[in-house]
Amino acid sequence: MKFLFAEKYLPSALIALLFISCSSKESPKPAIPPSENTKSFEAMNTFMAIKSYGPNASAANDSAEKLVFKLESLLSTTKNSSHIYKLNHAEKYPVQVDDKVKELANFALKMAKETDGALNPVLYPIVHTWGFTTEKYRVPADSEIQAILPLTDFNQVNISSSGIAMKPGMMMDLGAVGKGYAGDKILELLKSKGITSAVLDLGGNVQTLGCKKDGKKWKVGITNPWGGPPIGGVEVCDMAVVTSGGYERFFEQNGKRYIHIFDGKNGKPVENGLSAVMIIAPSGLYADALSTAIFVMGENKAIDFWKKNREKFQMLLLREDKSVLYTKELDPIIRFTYSLKSKNIID
Ligand code: ADP
Ligand code: MG
Repeated sequence: MKFLFAEKYLPSALIALLFISCSSKESPKPAIPPSENTKSFEAMNTFMAIKSYGPNASAANDSAEKLVFKLESLLSTTKNSSHIYKLNHAEKYPVQVDDKVKELANFALKMAKETDGALNPVLYPIVHTWGFTTEKYRVPADSEIQAILPLTDFNQVNISSSGIAMKPGMMMDLGAVGKGYAGDKILELLKSKGITSAVLDLGGNVQTLGCKKDGKKWKVGITNPWGGPPIGGVEVCDMAVVTSGGYERFFEQNGKRYIHIFDGKNGKPVENGLSAVMIIAPSGLYADALSTAIFVMGENKAIDFWKKNREKFQMLLLREDKSVLYTKELDPIIRFTYSLKSKNIID
């Protein structure tokens, strides 16, 4: 579990305003008090909360919750009734899946190509071998990893009107993009129900619709990947703020930490000096895909990628040495309340 929806007044007088914060394991349940316009529940292996303003907020939130459960039932890698499970355990291909699964799989494949495999929706056999799907964590031998890697070639996936086809032994996992997709679909639904202002926290993925009801920007906390309360925040309206980091899920063996985000090039947990990555973009789905991909790329490739796509997203990179780098466009909307080793602007 890695998420907490919290409304906090940060101690700093500078930022004594509402903060939505996604922080780590400490709290067993969402800290936001239940109210008519707020809904909290557990889905997709995390805590989620939706807060919306407008007519029928409560009914709209109920529909949004149902939508998340529906998506979870399609996308789960472990529930044997899910479409992804059926695909992963098929004896022949193509396997017909729900249009939503197809849409998401198509997007993930496109992003895999765009990010040169940093996002890889068919890494599941590797993730599984390291025990992240069963919590039977282990460090596999290099020979074992090498034998599995050919099963993670995303170019072997074919999506058509007849369904999804892969090579035998391949397995798909849309976990790195599922919450972002759910967030975009929830916001669409809320809008269609007349909601004009809302904030979602889907386990580390914060998405906002409009501004706060008083017209001010939402303040979204920056999770402290080194442990402790949020290290600052960003102010946004109509944006997704999505974070991926090694602190979210990991195991340790012989003093070494192995995290749940993998580098598909070597089949090993990412180890590149980054603690976390925060992406800010209009679409939750795109931000979610990139939070994982940029984390896998590491600093240098991430900066090159941003330079080619600077109109599409902004990013904050948090290094293990407690220094940070962020794109210039974030400068007016980002604030830190933590004593960082250094702050550097990417331009
Ligand atoms: P979280 O879901 O914890 O917020 P991410 O969005 O970064 O974090 O997704 C990480 C999950 O995606 C992992 O738990 C694993 O199932 C899967 N995964 C790990 N590495 C990759 C990768 N390089 N590309 C795509 N999916 C990955
Ligand atoms: Mg992601």
